[in-house]
Amino acid sequence: MEIETEKSLVIGLDMGETNSVFGIVDQRGNIKSQTVISSTAYPDFDDYVKASVDALQPALDAVGGIGNVRAMGIGAPNSNYYNGCIENAANLVWPGIVPVAEKFQEALGIPCRVTNDANAAAMGEMTYGVARGMKNFIMITLGTGVGSGIVCDGKIVYGSDGFAGELGHVIVDRGESARACGCGRKGCLETYTSATGVARTAREILQKNTADSLLRELDPEKITSFDVFQAAEKGDALALEIFDFTGTVLGRACADFTAFNSPEAFVFFGGLTKAGDYLMKPLRKAFDENVLRNYRGKVKLLISSLNGSEAAVLGASALGWEESL
Ligand SMILES: [Zn+2]
Repeated sequence: MEIETEKSLVIGLDMGETNSVFGIVDQRGNIKSQTVISSTAYPDFDDYVKASVDALQPALDAVGGIGNVRAMGIGAPNSNYYNGCIENAANLVWPGIVPVAEKFQEALGIPCRVTNDANAAAMGEMTYGVARGMKNFIMITLGTGVGSGIVCDGKIVYGSDGFAGELGHVIVDRGESARACGCGRKGCLETYTSATGVARTAREILQKNTADSLLRELDPEKITSFDVFQAAEKGDALALEIFDFTGTVLGRACADFTAFNSPEAFVFFGGLTKAGDYLMKPLRKAFDENVLRNYRGKVKLLISSLNGSEAAVLGASALGWEESL
């Protein structure tokens, strides 16, 4: 294997609820090697760090050792870029405040930075993906929830406390029947345009409407956004209506978000983007109809160009290139 020149690599860690995926990445965004450990098997965080270092060792040996690695970037839920800690993450096994960056920095002897998944995705897009060269854009991740990373003047917006950019919890419906959100409020964007939001829409439309649909063959409680996509592929009118509604809600919200920082683009990432034009066509239409005239025709609506399975690790690794390190 070709030996890299000094400090031309970074480590990315995608810390998920179940698994932690490590990648050693070069400046072009090629993952040189990848390794995985369980996120749940080490209730003591020090043991988790030790297991991580052990798992990384063969991969580091293969690239000429840690001396060739500039820094480590970590994407983790509920993490705070400013203090390098995960703070009260409900879905991880470590309670309270966990000084993740400090622990890895001590164990590996290289600078470490941490940020949440959506900000990491924005960094990945800016460093290796469709937002390369852009100074102002908004990343929207459409998964189980809706996350966002806002980039202004080439920098992620972290805000006063490190937790800026929760566009998934902007309220888009203040009506009586607005949907309850996991955050304790009602009508958040996330309850309509996440994968689970699409499933909720499917259940609502199936109940209200008596039209024939392939979706009626499924247990309504078990319908997923992927089922809706498959039905749409077969031309199912109700499935198309569900995506139409979802795209419209998201397009209107993005039209409003445009007023924050006049972005060059919105970049959409996550499972739902596989719906392609079923989602993007109504989204573009609603965006154009609702955006302030000054911005009309200037904002690109793009789908992430990063490979889904690699994107999280690449995004985390992108933190390692930050100049401030
Ligand atoms: Zn909410």
